[in-house]
Amino acid sequence: MLTPDLAQQLLRAVDDGFQSQCDFLADLTRFPSTRGFEATAQDFMAAAMRARGLTVDRWKLDVEAIRHLPGFSPVAVSYDDAWNVVGTHRPKVSKGRSLILNGHIDVVPTGPLDMWTAPPFAPYVKDGWMYGRGAGDMKAGLAANLFALDALARLGLAPAAEVYLQSVIEEECTGNGALACLQRGYRAEAALITEPTDGTLTSAQVGVMWFQVKVKGKPAHVAYAGTGANAIEACLPIIKALHELEHRWNEVKHPAFAEHEHPINFVVSKIEGGDWTSSVPSWSTFDMRIGLYPGQDLAQVRSEVEAVVAAAAQQDAFLKQNPPQVSYHGFQAEGYELPQGSDAQVLLEHCHAQIVGSALAQRALTATTDARFYGLYAGIPALVYGPRAENIHAFDERVELDSMRRVTKTLALFIARWCGVEGRG
Ligand code: ZN
Repeated sequence: MLTPDLAQQLLRAVDDGFQSQCDFLADLTRFPSTRGFEATAQDFMAAAMRARGLTVDRWKLDVEAIRHLPGFSPVAVSYDDAWNVVGTHRPKVSKGRSLILNGHIDVVPTGPLDMWTAPPFAPYVKDGWMYGRGAGDMKAGLAANLFALDALARLGLAPAAEVYLQSVIEEECTGNGALACLQRGYRAEAALITEPTDGTLTSAQVGVMWFQVKVKGKPAHVAYAGTGANAIEACLPIIKALHELEHRWNEVKHPAFAEHEHPINFVVSKIEGGDWTSSVPSWSTFDMRIGLYPGQDLAQVRSEVEAVVAAAAQQDAFLKQNPPQVSYHGFQAEGYELPQGSDAQVLLEHCHAQIVGSALAQRALTATTDARFYGLYAGIPALVYGPRAENIHAFDERVELDSMRRVTKTLALFIARWCGVEGRG
């Protein structure tokens, strides 16, 4: 039982540790843990877990082990240095309910450095916000998970149930890090993912698919451009046709996304092509990220995309004979709706209200998170709830430190009540 007095002590313990939590967040943000370069940040997380007496499992992702599982996304990169880290707390006597605390260590690329006010991996605090790539998405969440447990430890307490602290990779591109945790056998009675949700609970999230369209052309000297076929310019009508599909999907809005004007977003996010400025380009590729609704079947979505690309190509004399190819690597992620009313949700609402003083609001997310793995493929209620961040995936990403403090307090209360507590050592 968490008495009111003990709850107050726990919240004070979060405050007492908060400066070192901010220091930890700065240290973690200093690691440029973009895709393929997460290993040293993961070593740092593993060391932090070990220092707290957690049993650390650090393993390399193995595509062969997860390829057959639902939710797997194909990859075109090597996993030679792709490490997941899970720290396990085991109680002396298991009395409460087990819990997964999840966060991802991978961050997205910075883009041109001259557009940042300060270097993205040199975090600094200004007006109560910490700036840096990954500070918000989602290293503040990882810090909150760890320091919520620390608050218990400061009082000489530990959770009276198994707690799995997960620091995963690949959240920003496939979700294969979280999937690998499931494959390795990690299960619990609830999962909390501290993505930056501005203190709201994520009620639904879209699915996300990545694909690449490869377009051929016919080279010619630009002096006789009419005799060639321009592979780059031929992409434009195909892109336009794909945006028309996006508009159709936004017109028949899924009820879970009623609050959003435009929940489904298609973006051409990478483009390449051509070899020489005075040659009609003979090749081009573009990558697109699309959103989809919960319940939309991935195979069906792929065939719709391919049909749109094929129909657009029919309008082009050269592409009619040389159809573009669509390939898939990266996200093949289904949408997910949080089943309402789980015990974990009710408890989170209670703890949030105690800290924030108002009811826990819900928001549908027009992006994906790793929650889908726990919810869809393991039957684990997966609550996405975290601090307030701005400019994620953009320049001058930042997280509001006070929101991290509130989330850490909510988590500390949640852990104590969900898992129960026992004396340490
Ligand atoms: Zn994230």
